[in-house]
Amino acid sequence: MRKNNWAGNYRYRASKVHSPISLEQVQEIVSRAPELRVLGSGHSFTAIVDAKELLSLERMPTELSIDRAAGTVSFGAQLSYGELAQALEDEGMALANLASLPQICVAGAVATATHGSGDGNGNLATSVAALELVTSDGEVRSASRDDEDFNGLVVSLGALGVVTRLTLDIEPGYEVRQRAFDGLAWDTLLAHFEEITSSGYSVSVFTLWDEAPGGVWVKTIVNGAPESLGDDLFGAVAARAQQHMIAGVDPDNCTPQLDSPGPWSQRLPHFRMAFTPSSGEEIQSEYHVPRRHAVAALEAVRARARIIRPLLLVSEIRTVAADDLWLSPQYQQDTVAIHFTWRREQAAVERVLVEVEAALAPFEPRPHWGKLFLADAQTLAPRYPRLDDFIALLARSDGRSAFTNAWLRTHLLGGG
Ligand SMILES: Cc1cc2nc3c(=O)[nH]c(=O)nc-3n(C[C@H](O)[C@H](O)[C@H](O)COP(=O)(O)OP(=O)(O)OC[C@H]3O[C@@H](n4cnc5c(N)ncnc54)[C@H](O)[C@@H]3O)c2cc1C
Repeated sequence: MRKNNWAGNYRYRASKVHSPISLEQVQEIVSRAPELRVLGSGHSFTAIVDAKELLSLERMPTELSIDRAAGTVSFGAQLSYGELAQALEDEGMALANLASLPQICVAGAVATATHGSGDGNGNLATSVAALELVTSDGEVRSASRDDEDFNGLVVSLGALGVVTRLTLDIEPGYEVRQRAFDGLAWDTLLAHFEEITSSGYSVSVFTLWDEAPGGVWVKTIVNGAPESLGDDLFGAVAARAQQHMIAGVDPDNCTPQLDSPGPWSQRLPHFRMAFTPSSGEEIQSEYHVPRRHAVAALEAVRARARIIRPLLLVSEIRTVAADDLWLSPQYQQDTVAIHFTWRREQAAVERVLVEVEAALAPFEPRPHWGKLFLADAQTLAPRYPRLDDFIALLARSDGRSAFTNAWLRTHLLGGG
């Protein structure tokens, strides 16, 4: 059992960790525990996961099954996206999108509305067609899209119970090309923001917020005859060598970028499965802003470049499409995601986040639930129109508040 989260900036305080091997054991543990949270693959950056007792599903059976007629795959929720992708690829099937890394477990990603990029792509939780949940009374509940609570159950922040199985939408396998471009000028990005983010199926812009031009990684679905993206993207030039988005880190950790077509699972994530994603020693923060405010929000952050830059490894700008999931940062709004990979200097990062959150406040950003942010429940409540419905659902699912921890009280429920 890991003692720290992946980034090493949070040490779990739980005094007991359970590793059940069957659904019956999960039910028994959950019904007895006074306070419990599920530990996924540990890639979040805060105390979101912590409680007196933790439960890991690592030893649970995977039992993956594909239903081609329904266009779905069902599996034990602890599976990582990398493992799931391999199993799907073996059957010629695919998911619609992936995050930057394949190492995260599907349940943890879905619980926090983890996302990839693409003007038309929802976050990864939008692929969930059904789930199985063990609630704090030890009961097993199954829900699918026709359940009236479903849109509240998916992005749960781990507050509603233990998600033991997930069913996701799948589609026939496809190939993707990835191309990195260097030298995107700030003025060009702001003047052509929508054309740039719509230049591929999944687009990421990288920046340090200073005068230096940024980079753009464009992932394009290969349809029929292979077709190259061309060497110029609004003045940015196609890179001739593989890159890492963080200066000085080995580019071999990243999936191939030189325009060669390859399976969706080896182009949509930025990082390769068997290699270290990102930098390793870092903290991440991210804010989702309504897409109509994209340019103004980027300018507001850029005005703080002087204080951001010394702590920053890199920033990434992506787009994510709207959905109907109650606690999703994309709830009924297309968003631009403004992400920061920081040096692992927690206190200094938190001081800069005060400024970043002040700069973005006029745009009412919704933070990424799994990354470091400061905003409290009172600030965030007006940004989530279905919060009261979620709180009512929480009362029905977990009447004894076994899954409510200090982080949830501080950032979502109040009274923290
Ligand atoms: C290098 C790196 C790159 C990243 N890239 C991206 C990215 O591209 N896009 C993006 O959006 N995010 C990204 N993230 C953030 C990451 O996807 C989220 O923090 C996600 O929550 C991690 O899931 P986890 O299971 O590893 O985390 P954990 O901290 O283990 O769990 C996260 C939450 O999920 C809950 N949970 C986990 N499993 C279950 C379950 N079975 N039942 C109920 N609740 C459960 C936990 O209780 C907790 O509340 C990245 C993180 C890292 C470290």
